[in-house]
Amino acid sequence: MSNPLYDALIGSKSESSARFVSTESGSNLTYNQFASRAGQVAHALLQLGVRPGDRVMVQADKSIDVLALYLGTIRSGAVFIPLNTAYTAAEVEYFVGDAEPAVFICTPKSENQLKAIADNAGAKLLTLDVDGTGSWFDFCGTTCSAVFSCDRSGSDLAAILYTSGTTGRSKGAMLTHDNLLSNAQSLKQAWNYSDTDVLLHTLPIYHSHGLFVAINTTMLAGASMVFMHHFAADKVMENLKNATVLMGVPTHYVRLLKEPALTKQSVSHMRLFTSGSAPLLAETHESFTALTGYAILERYGLTETNMNTSNPYSNERRPGTVGQALPDIQVEVRDPETGQELPQGETGSIEVNGPNVFAGYWRKPEKTREEFRDDGFFITGDLGFFDKDGYLTIIGRSKDLVITGGLNVYPKEIEAEIDALDGVMESAVIGIPHPDFGEGVTAVVVMCSKDSTSEEKIMASIANRLAKFKQPKKVVFTKELPRNAMGKVQKNLLRDLYSDLYTM
Ligand code: AMP
Repeated sequence: MSNPLYDALIGSKSESSARFVSTESGSNLTYNQFASRAGQVAHALLQLGVRPGDRVMVQADKSIDVLALYLGTIRSGAVFIPLNTAYTAAEVEYFVGDAEPAVFICTPKSENQLKAIADNAGAKLLTLDVDGTGSWFDFCGTTCSAVFSCDRSGSDLAAILYTSGTTGRSKGAMLTHDNLLSNAQSLKQAWNYSDTDVLLHTLPIYHSHGLFVAINTTMLAGASMVFMHHFAADKVMENLKNATVLMGVPTHYVRLLKEPALTKQSVSHMRLFTSGSAPLLAETHESFTALTGYAILERYGLTETNMNTSNPYSNERRPGTVGQALPDIQVEVRDPETGQELPQGETGSIEVNGPNVFAGYWRKPEKTREEFRDDGFFITGDLGFFDKDGYLTIIGRSKDLVITGGLNVYPKEIEAEIDALDGVMESAVIGIPHPDFGEGVTAVVVMCSKDSTSEEKIMASIANRLAKFKQPKKVVFTKELPRNAMGKVQKNLLRDLYSDLYTM
C-alpha cells in the first residue's frame, strides 16, 4: 500500500516520540500522537462514507485539529479543500456547489447559515471549534484510530485550493500528491531544512503558503513547529526565542520592524527568515538586514504551482528579486503573445513547467486550456525579467490583481458588488501602496448624480456581502473614469492619481 504524500510527511515518523508541534498555550504533540490523530480522522471519514477522490471541505479557525483533518483526509485517500475563514455564506455557497464535497466541516457559529447550503449539495455538515468542541469531535470520539492508509498514486489529487477569479468566479486548482511532495522536497533541500529546525508558524492554513510551504516542508524534514493562532508582532517576538525559522508575508516584516524588541541579539539564534505571497520592498529587506544582520530569503510561487523560485540559502539574496528557479522547475520569461522565450533582461510573461505544476482547474477544462501552452508551460499571469545570474524580478501582474496583507483580491468581484448599488454609475477597484497591507483595496466610484451615494452607504451595503479583506479601505469619487480608445478603463492612470492616498 502506498500513499505518497502521507508516507513521506508522516509514514516513517508515526512511531516517533519527537515533538511535532507546540501551541501558544503550551500543549505539545509528538509525531506519534499526531499520526494517531490523523488515523482517527481517516477512520472517521471512512465511517461517514467518504471514498477515495471524494472532497472534504473545511472552513474552520486555525487549530491543530484542522491540521489533523488535512493529513487525515490525505490518508483516507480523499481530497482536502480548505476555505478562507473570511468567506461569507454567499461566497461559501459557490465553493460547495462547485466542489460537491462529501463532508463539510465548519465552525459551530456558522452552522445555521451553512446547513441548507451543505444539504443542497448533499454534503454532511459537521462542526469544529478551536476549543475542541463540535459535532466533528463527538463523531471522531466514537471511532478508533485504526492504522490504515488508502492506496494512492502520485498523480491522484491530494488537495484543491481555490484561487480568486478575474471574472468573479474562483477556480479550484487541483494539486496532486506528486505536486505537493516534489515541492516540499525542493524546499527542504533549497533551505537546508533539518529535524533540528523549529518553525514559528504564524500564517493562515487555508492558503498554500501556510499549509504547504510551511507545514509540508517542516513535516518532510521531521522538524517541529510552534503554532500561533495568527500573526501578532509582539507575540511573535515572544515566541521567536523558541524557533529557528520564520516564514512571513511582507506585511509581517513591516510590522516586526516597528517592534522595539527586534534587535540583533533577540534573533541571534535564528537560522532563516523567508518572505513571499506578495512583493517584499527592497527597502524593507534592507532595513531588516541593517537591524538584525539577516537577509530575508524571498521566494515566489502561486496556488497553482507552489514555489517556483527562491533566493539562495548559501549565496547572495538580492533585495527586490524572487531568486532563481528551484531545481527541476523550468521558469521562463516569454513573449505573452507568441510564447517564445525572451532574451535575458527583457520583460515578459512568467511561465512555469515542472513536477510542481498543478493538474488543472477543477471542472474547468476550458480555463485550464487557456492557462497552459501546448508545450506544458503554465502561464502564471505575472510579468517579470531575469538578470544575468538568473535572478527573477516580478514587475507586476498582467491581470489587475490586488494583493492586500498577502491575500489576493480581484477587482472585478468588488466592482460588480459596488456597481449594483443604488446611486452608483460605475466603479473601478485598484490597489494603492499601503504602508501596512502592501496594497490597499481602493474603490474609485462615479455617482449617478450629486450625492446619490456616499462612502458610508457603499461600505455599509457591502459589509455582509464581501469578506473583510476584500472590502475597500477607502472609496473615492470622480466625475468619470479614464478610458482608452478601446473603451477599457485605464487603471494605471487611476493608480498614479491616487498613489499617495494612504501615505499622505
Ligand atoms: P497565490 O495564488 O495566492 O499564492 O498568489 C500568487 C501571486 O502572488 C503570484 O501570481 C504573484 O503575483 C504574487 N506573489 C507571490 N510571491 C511573490 C513575491 N515574492 N513577489 C511578488 N509577488 C509575489
